[in-house]
Amino acid sequence: PIEVKNINKSFISKKNDQLSVLKDINLNIDDGELVCLLGPSGCGKTTLLRLIAGLDQPTSGEIIANGEKVVEPSGDRAVIFQQYSLFPWLTVLQNVTFGLEMTNKGSKEENIETAERYLTRVGLIDFKDSYPHELSGGMKQRVAIIRSLLNHSPILLMDEPFSALDMQNRHKLQEQLIGVWKRFENTIVFVTHDVDEAVYLADKIVIMDKNPGRINKIIEVDIERPRKRDSKEFIALQE
Ligand code: ATP
Repeated sequence: PIEVKNINKSFISKKNDQLSVLKDINLNIDDGELVCLLGPSGCGKTTLLRLIAGLDQPTSGEIIANGEKVVEPSGDRAVIFQQYSLFPWLTVLQNVTFGLEMTNKGSKEENIETAERYLTRVGLIDFKDSYPHELSGGMKQRVAIIRSLLNHSPILLMDEPFSALDMQNRHKLQEQLIGVWKRFENTIVFVTHDVDEAVYLADKIVIMDKNPGRINKIIEVDIERPRKRDSKEFIALQE
């Protein structure tokens, strides 16, 4: 589980003012939950994700992940940010199998087979021997998502992972995400400002306000629900 306890985070602005970005954030995330941080631009979603990742420290409060205080990044918490980070010297296939080799006990052949299966599903199998610089931004993003999904980290932190993708690829990768999550039951926290995406994917939606960034509401979604791409019906239910 991840426990976010009384987190406050301020930055010092260029004019030397204190800028309070997160205020009194309390949040419990159970193992295997698929949680979405949803809110307007600037409400501190990325900041909160970075704190959970251990990439930055809160001004006060603490975050406990799997019983340990988060003080620095850890391999247990894989992070994927908007800017894809592929290894430029590895091919697409090698980039994806790299994630698998880190954690998977399977043989090299099995890892290649798994990687190829995923690349096929997201329409990238013809590019398996290409290098990242030969791909478009959206293609690189797809490879980066697949790699992190196959990494099997117990905790996966994703900052608007699908934002650079066209609708068709976004939907495909959302399905991959759900598939991997159901199979490996990892804990996933992802940031979005797309309500439809939040409602479609998450089983807990954390709605944030800005100035300062606070949690306004936490909605538990029925995980047995049929997943729908249109959130209107769901929103009506909540009101
Ligand atoms: P978006 O949806 O636009 O990505 P967000 O909800 O993820 O926004 P953050 O990126 O967390 O918001 O930023 C929240 C606020 O904190 C913004 O006002 C931003 O300018 C400020 N901020 C973030 N990082 C820093 C920093 N390192 N130094 C100063 N201010 C920062």
